Amino acid sequence: MRFIDSHTHTYLRGPEDLELMAISGIEGVILCSFLPFQPHGFSTMYDLFRWLIENETYRLYKYGIHSRVAIGIHPKAIPESEVKMVLDHILTLFDNEKASALGEVGLETGSKEEEDVFIQQLRIANEYLVPIIVHTPRQNKQKILEKIISILDSENVDFSRVIIDHLTPDLIEKVKSIGAIVGLTVQPGKLTPKDIYDVITKYGPEGIVIDSDIGVNPSDPLALPRTAHYLSKEGVSGGDIQKIMYSNIRSLLPI
Ligand SMILES: [Zn+2]
Repeated sequence: MRFIDSHTHTYLRGPEDLELMAISGIEGVILCSFLPFQPHGFSTMYDLFRWLIENETYRLYKYGIHSRVAIGIHPKAIPESEVKMVLDHILTLFDNEKASALGEVGLETGSKEEEDVFIQQLRIANEYLVPIIVHTPRQNKQKILEKIISILDSENVDFSRVIIDHLTPDLIEKVKSIGAIVGLTVQPGKLTPKDIYDVITKYGPEGIVIDSDIGVNPSDPLALPRTAHYLSKEGVSGGDIQKIMYSNIRSLLPI
C-alpha cells in the first residue's frame, strides 16, 4: 500500500513521528502553512514559508518522505500587520515556483478581515492555477462552508483544483455536487477509520482524499495506514483504498 498524506504540519512534530510515517509506507506529504499563534507581521510569515520550503522538505527527505509545500495565510493566523507584504511575497513564491499549492486558506469565523485575505489569496492562485487547500472550522461548519463556496464561486475558481478539507460526512454531498475535492481528516475529534468506511461505501473513492492534519492538536502520524488497515479488514478493495490514500491527491498535486 502506498500513502501520500494530503494535509500535514509535520514541522510542528518531532523526529519520532517522521520515522514512524516513513516506516509505515508514507511516501509523501503536503505541508500546509500555519502557525499556532497570531504572527506579528511580514518577517514571521517570511520565515514560516522559508522554514517549510527550505528546511522541512529537507528534513522529510532525510527520512525518505517526499513533500510539496502549500503556502498561504491561515484564517486563524492572519498577521497583525503587513498583510499586503505577505500577499506580495506569496505571489513571488509562486512566480519563482517555490510553492506548489495555496493553503491552507479559508474561513474560521467568517469575519470581514478573513474574507478579504481569503479573496486576495484566491486571486493569486487564479493567476498561477495552483491547487488550493481550504480549511473549514470545527464550529459552524455548514454555515461557513456555504460562505466559502459562494466566495470561490464569485472569484471564478476552478473547483476541480480545490480541496475542501476537514469535512464532516453530512457535507460531502454538497462539496461533491460543485465538483470540488473532498478532504477528510482522520484525527481525534474529527473522523475515525469507521467514518471513512461509511463514506467510501456510500460515495465510492472518486474525488476524496484523506489526511492526518498532524500538528499541534492531538493527531495520529499513522492516520492513513491505520485507516487503510481498517478499510481492508472490512472488505474495501485495495484499488479503492489506493485512490483515497494516494492516487487522487497525486493526480492533483504530483509528488
Ligand atoms: Zn491544517
